[in-house]
Amino acid sequence: MNGLVPPEGTSLLIGGKLVPGGSGVFETINPATEEVLGQAANASADDMNAAISAARSAFDETGWSRDPDFRAHCLRQLRDVLREHVEELRAITVAEVGAPVMLTSGPQLEGPIGDLSFSADLAETYSWHTDLGVAEQMGISSRRATRREAVGVVGAITPWNFPHQINLAKLGPALAAGNTVVLKPAPDTPWCAAVLGPLIIDHTEIPAGVLNIVTSDDHTLGAQLVQDPRVDMITFTGSTQTGRSVMADASTTLKRTFLELGGKSAAIVLDDADIVSAASYTAFSVAIHAGQGCALTTRMLVPRAVYDDAVAAAASALAGIKADDPTKPGTICGPLISARQRDRVERYLDIARAQGGHIVTGGGRPAGKDRGYFVEPTLIAGLPNTSTVAQEEIFGPVLVVIPHDGDADAIRLANESPYGLSGSVWGTDPERVERVVSGVRTGTLSVNGGLWYHADAPFGGYKQSGIGREMGVAGFEEYLETKLIATPA
Ligand code: NAD
Repeated sequence: MNGLVPPEGTSLLIGGKLVPGGSGVFETINPATEEVLGQAANASADDMNAAISAARSAFDETGWSRDPDFRAHCLRQLRDVLREHVEELRAITVAEVGAPVMLTSGPQLEGPIGDLSFSADLAETYSWHTDLGVAEQMGISSRRATRREAVGVVGAITPWNFPHQINLAKLGPALAAGNTVVLKPAPDTPWCAAVLGPLIIDHTEIPAGVLNIVTSDDHTLGAQLVQDPRVDMITFTGSTQTGRSVMADASTTLKRTFLELGGKSAAIVLDDADIVSAASYTAFSVAIHAGQGCALTTRMLVPRAVYDDAVAAAASALAGIKADDPTKPGTICGPLISARQRDRVERYLDIARAQGGHIVTGGGRPAGKDRGYFVEPTLIAGLPNTSTVAQEEIFGPVLVVIPHDGDADAIRLANESPYGLSGSVWGTDPERVERVVSGVRTGTLSVNGGLWYHADAPFGGYKQSGIGREMGVAGFEEYLETKLIATPA
């Protein structure tokens, strides 16, 4: 389909070489058409073992971890070659992820490529050493200094919904910090990761073994990476359920785990907000990429007195959005990634109906689309915050509207969730907005439509939405150890 993916299948990147998968190949599917796009290399447990060995040797036996300027140079080479091939990458992203082409100019593709500059700059400008001065202890004077060093071998395990964003938001800072990496992408989007292999070999000086890419349709390779004692750290993005397994598996070797997990974020609309515009905006955002975003505000909490108006405004916005072909420039809601994921969304819609919910708009597959894993943008009303669809992550274009009885009640409802990833607040009185912002237990918040996504902005979750922060300086520091050195003064 394009110059980057050879028709006979892609390869693994292990120890600086492109190699076939020990378990053959597996199919990658276009979720908008259900057609087989082609083959991806299917790694075996031996391949994963070889990738970890290569990353370990590259960390222990090369100067990579001690040369930040060289790392910055390599990351800029990677950024530049990805930019040169951006149109081919765009085609792969739209075809394999089902991502609306409109989103590829932002977080689906071009955003994260550009964000490699932030990591490269940090490698050069970060304060690796801090002098803590002289202190006396038991009659001995010592000069103390801290040194920040790479953690070592990092296993990066990623999902399919924003594959470039999540792969690069891990590779950029992990490599800039001096680590070596084994990347295990999601089985649904192998090409988005595999395309990096040949580009890295042909167009960058990233040394052999520093970055290894292991595609597979077998989730147990992820567990293997987590359990291996030669791996020092796991950076994981995915569901909260898998995050629990990762944390449990990592505990046997007590390795550092950095977890970006699920969400069920609330949009809180206060009674002095413009209800119609807040509801319309929130509904629109839930349909973006068919709701396959961890930080989307999929619960909307609105004042009870204007509940019907808010439902009507949100339903009208959702009814105006067509789940459609992601290659069309105007599409914002494409397909779900797989039949499995569509089944999951439809199961939640059945649960909502069974629990007495009212499907105000959507609720099924779009008319005239007999191919592709599409679900109509859907609004559910009439259910409390304790209902299944208000508590569990659906990962589809589904908004649940819930009434609140004032600011304190809205905060209580927003926090009545195992998750704490994101949210939004809509209101005109700055003091009331500030009280709500302070009360909500989440890692990011948008006020009146503000956008928080940027390379320098730390993103992550409270509660069961994760541990740690991605992006920003905080995201870079996740990949660093601290060494304290004392010498007689
Ligand atoms: P998933 O948890 O099913 O899989 C994620 C990755 O983990 C895949 O690469 C998978 O192969 C691997 N994996 C599966 N089982 C494993 C195990 N036992 N040990 C190690 N690795 C294992 O998630 P998904 O369905 O691919 O992605 C959707 C989920 O990701 C949603 O819950 C979404 O909220 C979450 N997500 C979170 C963020 C965030 O930044 N917080 C961003 C995007 C997606």
